[in-house]
Amino acid sequence: MSVFDHKAYDNHEKVAFFHDAKSGLKAIIAVHNTNLGPALGGCRMWPYASSEEALTDVLRLSKGMSYKSAMANLELGGGKSVIIGDPRKLKTDEMMLAMGEFVQSLGGKYITAEDSGIAVKDLKLMAQRSDYIAGTQAKYRYDGGEADGNPAPSTAYGVFVGLRSSVRHALKTDLNGVSVAIQGLGHVGYRLAEHLHREGAKLFVTDIYPDNLDKAAQELGATVVSPDEIFALDVDVLAPCAMGAVINDNSISLLKAKVVAGAANNQLAEERHGQILKDKGILYAPDYVINAGGVIDIFHQKMDSSAEAMRKHIEGIGDTLVEIYQRSEEQNLPTNIEANRMAEERFLAK
Ligand code: NAD
Repeated sequence: MSVFDHKAYDNHEKVAFFHDAKSGLKAIIAVHNTNLGPALGGCRMWPYASSEEALTDVLRLSKGMSYKSAMANLELGGGKSVIIGDPRKLKTDEMMLAMGEFVQSLGGKYITAEDSGIAVKDLKLMAQRSDYIAGTQAKYRYDGGEADGNPAPSTAYGVFVGLRSSVRHALKTDLNGVSVAIQGLGHVGYRLAEHLHREGAKLFVTDIYPDNLDKAAQELGATVVSPDEIFALDVDVLAPCAMGAVINDNSISLLKAKVVAGAANNQLAEERHGQILKDKGILYAPDYVINAGGVIDIFHQKMDSSAEAMRKHIEGIGDTLVEIYQRSEEQNLPTNIEANRMAEERFLAK
């Protein structure tokens, strides 16, 4: 397995491999860039088929965090860690303690947090061996409500603020009467629907599970549609809040929406789909910019901050998007490419 000439290596500052024979831990920490501050990024435990696959994943995710933190105006760099193995079968307390030791051994260059396969309980075990674990304790909620440690309310609020800015920019209107199609009514999607309903938006919703659909119909007056109908709806906004790669050659030809703004990570199947959206006159809110409420939340929980400071910081997502839109118009570039450029200006220049 090559590392320096790996296709996703892309100037990583540090890639560390760790094996603890006693607990069976096999993990990789990737630190992409720390010019803006220590690298923050979650720890993922996944049954990777090979160490090559784990390396590819950690390098891609870690680089993505440099862009996300830079655009979220955080004094943080980009990093990520992965543990190789099925969390339901192989995860033990000893392994989490060993992971804490691994994180500690980087001396604060990398701060870890939750990701797939890792829960708050696991982070608390890591924190017994490391000072560089975030997301173990929730002190604030952006709206002053009781914090339960779930960053989804902050993510949903950031997506709401970003969607509102995007609609103002593209359609020159507030949200009253604007129609929004939401794909995925999970932790983020349902909360986004509540915010939009309060502002008078008309909602169309879908999910592969019925749990929240009836509730959205009854409480938010939403129209429920089937998963395969969502892209072709004659709506103003599409909000992908389920999974990645939903903007692809098939879905793009169906879109009637004028704005795409949602929580899902990696919405564009390929970067070139940003150009196709632009050519069709559809404004795309770059996913890692609009969904940064969660990482902003984690940052404020780790610092000695306040609910008010967290809320203001999340609201900045709206201004950042407008800056991207203005610059992309000046440069005649798709918004995803302009966002990448702006992020690089921030984390490479320092
Ligand atoms: P979630 O699992 O709670 O919700 C996702 C919902 O999408 C589920 O209800 C699921 O049934 C539904 N879904 C899955 N496939 C679907 C399909 N084909 N059609 C329609 N619905 C489908 O996840 P979440 O925490 O709400 O996150 C949503 C998205 O936002 C994910 O892509 C996640 O990576 C991203 N994100 C979340 C956060 C956060 O703070 N939770 C932060 C940043 C990004």
